[in-house]
Amino acid sequence: MLRTILLGPPGAGKGTQAAKIVEKYNVPHISTGDIFRENIKNGTELGKKAQEYMNKGELVPDDLVCEIATDRLLKDDCKNGFLLDGFPRTVYQAVKLDEFLRSHDMKLDVVFNIAVDKEILIERLTGRRVCKACGASFHVVNIPPKKEGICDVCGGELIQRADDTLETVENRINVYENETKPLIDYYEEAGNIANINGAEELDVVFANIVKAIG
Ligand code: AMP
Repeated sequence: MLRTILLGPPGAGKGTQAAKIVEKYNVPHISTGDIFRENIKNGTELGKKAQEYMNKGELVPDDLVCEIATDRLLKDDCKNGFLLDGFPRTVYQAVKLDEFLRSHDMKLDVVFNIAVDKEILIERLTGRRVCKACGASFHVVNIPPKKEGICDVCGGELIQRADDTLETVENRINVYENETKPLIDYYEEAGNIANINGAEELDVVFANIVKAIG
């Protein structure tokens, strides 16, 4: 059983660490960003609503996000825990999540704060390329694919996410500083935060996460 949240700026490596955590602890990976992207791909009403905010690097309105996240948490596969990635992102969302967890007799085990300097975040995000077909993630310098523009995993086309352009990345980081960073204090007061240096090697970051889970 593991109920946890990955908190951190865009580009901190939350998605990468999430994949490793869900594999080891066998809990569902709940990424509100992924849910929105899936809806955009499928052309749903939700996708249309979310897209205008996402493309500008702004937050999707709280009530919409909270509804999506709590609906997801009610699914059977969350009975033995979950990993939240990219939710909550505002104090309002965190309060709503607390209310939800309390009313379902659930408690968070630990909240990870993955910290990375702004310059590294910008470099990581603007160089990121993702596979259009399978979603695998690469980086033009740090994790280059064997063949430029082609996914190593499935041979699909590698693209830059619409929100990974420099202008949008800077906006996303500002939004993080203003809206999401206050959550660190919020969870520090609740007493269940673990601070992790996200600038280290992937495997070191993961080892520190595993150590904190205990
Ligand atoms: P992510 O993949 O987590 O970086 O999310 C991509 C985009 O989806 C964000 O920049 C927001 O526009 C939107 N989004 C994802 N999660 C949330 C959330 N919890 N609150 C508001 N907007 C969100």
